[in-house]
Order: sequence, then structure tokens, then C-alpha cells
Amino acid sequence: MKYVSTRGQAPVLSFEEAMLTGLARDGGLYLPETIPTLTAEEIAAFEGLSYEEVAFRVMRPFIGDSFTDDEFRDIIAKAYAGFGHIARAPLVELAPGHFLLELFHGPTLAFKDFAMQLIGQLFEVALKRRGERVTIVGATSGDTGSAAIEAFRGLENVDVFILFPHGRVSEVQRRQMTTPADANVHALALDGDFDDCQARLKDMFNDFDFRDGVKLAGVNSINWARVLAQVVYYFTSAVALGAPHRKVSFTVPTGNFGDIFAGYIARRMGLPIDRLVVATNQNDILHRCLSGQGYFKGETIPSISPSMDIQVSSNFERALYYAYDQDGSAVAQLMDELKAGGFNVSQGAMQALAEAFLSGRASEEETLTTIASTLKQSGELICPHTAVGVKVAEETRVIGTPMITLATAHPAKFPDAVEKASGIRPPLPQRMADLYDRPERVTRIANDLGAIEEHIKGHIAR
Ligand SMILES: *Cc1c(COP(=O)(O)O)cnc(C)c1O
Repeated sequence: MKYVSTRGQAPVLSFEEAMLTGLARDGGLYLPETIPTLTAEEIAAFEGLSYEEVAFRVMRPFIGDSFTDDEFRDIIAKAYAGFGHIARAPLVELAPGHFLLELFHGPTLAFKDFAMQLIGQLFEVALKRRGERVTIVGATSGDTGSAAIEAFRGLENVDVFILFPHGRVSEVQRRQMTTPADANVHALALDGDFDDCQARLKDMFNDFDFRDGVKLAGVNSINWARVLAQVVYYFTSAVALGAPHRKVSFTVPTGNFGDIFAGYIARRMGLPIDRLVVATNQNDILHRCLSGQGYFKGETIPSISPSMDIQVSSNFERALYYAYDQDGSAVAQLMDELKAGGFNVSQGAMQALAEAFLSGRASEEETLTTIASTLKQSGELICPHTAVGVKVAEETRVIGTPMITLATAHPAKFPDAVEKASGIRPPLPQRMADLYDRPERVTRIANDLGAIEEHIKGHIAR
């Protein structure tokens, strides 16, 4: 299995190389040269299997010979062993035909643990075999950073630096990043917003001297291995509700387009997904684009669903690549236009996107109302990101096809918004109840590439 860049100008890599590299050297994102498919019989056989076994069968065709079957099974087993629910991703019924897929039973209470825990184990095995050490730098709107730190803390061959927007993550998110005591963990509070963090990260990858000097590796949601890990729960949940004999729909609270793009891959692999719905908060560049208004950057407005406060949605480039018939130079051209503010999508590509995705948005007010009404109607307390999804799902679901809304975080991760909406302050699960008492360790840093690079060079282990 070979991996190619969305911009067509970077070296073709193996799964392991694409995973260790993250961003392609032409600025693009890696995708498999062809998408493997599963037959209806193969999918039907997932019924009753463990999450780990389905994960193995779904991901195996993408791995090529980067890992042996035994290695890969062992990696998967370790990745999900720390989850607080035996089903890993259980389904809960909210209303007749409307289900929540609870993706918050991992160590940091958000869906990003599904990918990050796996990637931690994959890196560990690959780097030990190669006798290499890497510097992982991530940008986070809150949940990626804590998930990355939790996945890589204490590993021997990795230093991990996380850039988060100072003052714009929730207290739980911040504490999850600043309280781990491991020497290889470095939390950096950047003076700027998430788009600034993401832009500086891209700058570091495009500074080849720095990139090669510190052996930079990326685990942001652009890393193909992360997208791949997220494909699995589309299969487990759809099969639990009758696929492949019956179609199901999904609504996905979306920021960087990684999670929803995993659903797109699941469909291309053969999973019968009817509607695939992008749900955004007031930062709605994706909804505007999918409504035919072009892809133009605006100001990021802080919201009560901060992990979706994004204007430039990195993984959308992958959807564009397929919408433009895998034409790397067309994608490279669009990304140049984006630097200058944005672009219009061609008619053919717009049609392809419209066939693949629906979209909707929820305002702040609607998000709060949905938390309250969901609690009242179903007894479920949901986080604000999930509420954005539930609101949009209610608008787009059709009778007769089950709708699965992805519950992307535990409500206790965003207690202020949940309390404001419902009057209930959700408690942290027992295993992390002392989070507020642990000492914090963080460096505040300017939104300046040179300053960030100097800091990293000065703090990696040699
Ligand atoms: C990251 C995140 C999202 C957005 O996911 P993308 O893959 O970036 O679209 C939604 N909800 C929560 C809680 C998140 O942490």
C-alpha cells in the first residue's frame, strides 16, 4: 500500500513513512493511492466481534507490510486497553431512530483518544525498530493536545510539544496538558488563536532545516494514521444498527474535518452510509462552502464548543482532492488561493461534494437549548460539541434510516457551558477526579516562528 500527497509533488511513501512524516513535503496531505474495499459479507461478519477485532480487519489493508499481523494486533490491544468502557464506542438511543455514539471513554474524555492512543503505540514500535528518536509537535484547539500528551508521555523515543491558544481552551483541557509530570512532555501556551497555532505548525514543517534537524513528526488530525483509526467506529456502530443490510446516516460535529472524512473513507470502503452530515458551530466556513458560497476565511469567533473554533479546516483538502478527481495540481492551486483569503469551488467539484456531504450549523443559543432539551427528553447530558451535532442531526435525519450522532467529548470536559445550559455541573469520572489538585507546568510563548523553534531546540533530549 502506497501513499500519495494531495498536491502531487511529494515522494510516494509507505504507511509507516506517511505516519512518521505527517505533512507531505509539498505541503499536501497523504492519502492511500487506492482505497481498499470490503464486501458486504466481510462487513456482515463484523457483527458480534470485539472493537479490537473489527479495528484489525478494517485497518489491516491500509497498513501494507509496515507491521506484521501479530505486531498490529498487539498495538491495537494496547491502544484501547485503557478505555473505560468494554465496547470502547458504545451506542445510546436518544430518540426513536436517533443514536449517540459515545466516543469519550478514553483517557482524555474525547474521541481523539481513539486515534492518538493507537498512534502512540504505532510510533513506539516503529521508532524502536528503526533506532530513531523524533520530536512531535502538535497544534491543538484543546482536545488533540491532551490526547497526544496522554498517548506519548513517558515513551522513550519521543519528545512532545503542544501549542495551544492561550486562554482559549477549557480549564479541564488545559490541566490535562499541563499536569503530566513526564520530562518528555512540553505544553506551550501561544499568544494567538488556534488558527495561529496551526499556521506556526505548518511553518515549522515547511522550514526543512528545522524539520530535519529536530526530526519533526506530526500527529495533528492531518496524520493519515489518525484518520484511519477513526474509520473503525463508523463500521462498529453501523453494523450494530443493521449494516450492511440496512443503511445508516451519521452527523459529525466538525472542525478540522478529520472525523467526518473518516466517515467518507468508510463509505468508499463499502459501508452503506446514507447521509453524512457536517455539523459546525458559528465558525461555519465548511457549512458555507458546502452550501455553495465558496471557501473563504473569516475571523474565528470563540464559542462554547471550542474544539470546533476553526476557520481553515485542514482535512478538507483531502475531500477537495477527491472532488477534483485526484488532481494534485488543482488542489495546490486552491491552497495558494486560500493563502490570499479563499477560493470558489468549481461546478463539478461542488457536485461531487454535494453528493458526499450534507451540512448544517448551530448557533450558540441553539447549542445551549439542545443541551437542555436533550437532557429533558432523553436523560442524557451532552457536551456542547455533541449538542451542535444533535441539533443538526434533528434537522437532517429522515424517518426509516437510523441517524448516529457522534458524541465527541464527555460533558465534564466543558462543565461551564453544560451547567449554563442545564443547571447541572457534570462531575469528572472518578479516575481523574484529582485533576484540579495537580501542579501545572506550561511555557507562555509569542506567536513567532523563531521563538517557538528556539524553545523546541533548547528542550529536546539528545
Ligand atoms: C476535535 C474535536 C472536534 C472536531 O473534530 P475534527 O476531526 O477536527 O473535525 C469535535 N468535537 C470535539 C470534542 C473535538 O475534540
